[in-house]
Amino acid sequence: MPARMNPLLDALAVLFPVECAGCGSPDRSVCEQCCAALGPALETQLPGLHVASAARYEGVVRELVLALKEGGRTDAAAALARAIAPLLGAASSVHIPDLALVPSSRGARARRGYDPVGILVRRAGYRVSPVLRVARTTAAQKTLDLVGRATNSAGSLEAVRDLSGRRLTLVDDVLTTGATLLEAARAVREAGGEVVGAVTLAATPRRYPASHSNSEQPR
Ligand SMILES: [Zn+2]
Repeated sequence: MPARMNPLLDALAVLFPVECAGCGSPDRSVCEQCCAALGPALETQLPGLHVASAARYEGVVRELVLALKEGGRTDAAAALARAIAPLLGAASSVHIPDLALVPSSRGARARRGYDPVGILVRRAGYRVSPVLRVARTTAAQKTLDLVGRATNSAGSLEAVRDLSGRRLTLVDDVLTTGATLLEAARAVREAGGEVVGAVTLAATPRRYPASHSNSEQPR
């Protein structure tokens, strides 16, 4: 009987992965080559918001992010956390940065059963406490163009409490158009907080005009 037909072996493969989440080579979690592909960091300037990202969202990096987000490969978080950890530390002048994680939509969270960004940040050694939450359900971003995404994002997030006096660094998995991060920044500021900057695991190369832009991650 082929191994893939054996439910027990399939279950063990999830618990103890034997294929690299990036390239599929026989290895545990993430192979050395894919770890080496996580970088170099890049910076993006959005209106009023500086974003530092650990790697470009393409090739193996894209595979790793998708494996973590959509493939249930939470075991890849350790390697990805090593890539994002230096950026989290550098994003703030204080020793322990105050982080505001961009929340997944309710649908995505229910589908996955876990929160990829939260896992990532915890693995990077930082505490996670809720700062932002989804205020209302948005249409799937991937069906919208750039203008549509910005409109769709406006008002989609809100702070869980008053943020007066807090200087926060936003954290998300992938920067595409920036609409989601800008909405997160708006929500923090609306609650009285200051946004120091943003950190993402990966960033797509800037694409303007956005006529071909349809790769927004499912949130
Ligand atoms: Zn690999």
